[in-house]
Amino acid sequence: MNLLAIFAHPDDESFSCGGTLARYADAGASVHLICATRGEEGEIVHPDIDPESDMATLRTAELEDACRALGIAPPIFLDYHDSGFPITVGEKNPKAFMNADLLAVERSLLEHIEALKPEVILTFDPHGSYGHVDHIVIHRAAIGAFWSAGSVMQPAPRRLFFTARSSEQIRAMQAVQSSTTLDHLEPELYGVSEDSFAAVIDIGDYVEHKLAALKAHRSQFGAGERFDAMRERAPQRFLRERFTLGGLRGAFPEAPVDDLFAGLG
Ligand SMILES: [Zn+2]
Repeated sequence: MNLLAIFAHPDDESFSCGGTLARYADAGASVHLICATRGEEGEIVHPDIDPESDMATLRTAELEDACRALGIAPPIFLDYHDSGFPITVGEKNPKAFMNADLLAVERSLLEHIEALKPEVILTFDPHGSYGHVDHIVIHRAAIGAFWSAGSVMQPAPRRLFFTARSSEQIRAMQAVQSSTTLDHLEPELYGVSEDSFAAVIDIGDYVEHKLAALKAHRSQFGAGERFDAMRERAPQRFLRERFTLGGLRGAFPEAPVDDLFAGLG
């Protein structure tokens, strides 16, 4: 089993599908992560970290720690520059990921896909979880790469999944916590209907891995107490990770499956 996750910033992986990555690594799969940027536009909130630290160096090390916590291979960086959220910084920075040539990103993903030979690829949903432009760019490039792969390599990946939440889940999150980003999410746009899920993965045994990986992103989340609080307030958020289907080669069992590799043999 080869699993490849493709995201935009350090921490995207842990939030979106950290439990799933840990579960497959533990099951003996080869699990890799491609991260398009080094999260240069993040904000240092941890009181013990020098606010003048080089953000790229800091977040590179944090993502390496998160990958260790998940038990997966060290991250592969594409070395684009974080566009920031909102995108005022990215608009002025030609190197920002939002200004990248989409086909160039796709080609670079294809090189890694050819080397890693994943049967299953994971990336963001079409709305990039909460609309971050870099999340949407990597989503588009990953779709492009999944489909081109069939023409340029054999074996080609069999399944592309998008990390996803239901409208109900977004409403439930909004009921227990508040943040500028979360408060502005329209549940019907950013969430999908329950019958849209192609895979629902039980991560109950990997909650500690996911929490440890989230907390590895120290500069962004301080000591990470918020995750413990979140787990206490809404434990169900840490029990399952859900995915919609983004692309398929070959058969797919009746959805939703409880294993991303179900039926692949
Ligand atoms: Zn992100």
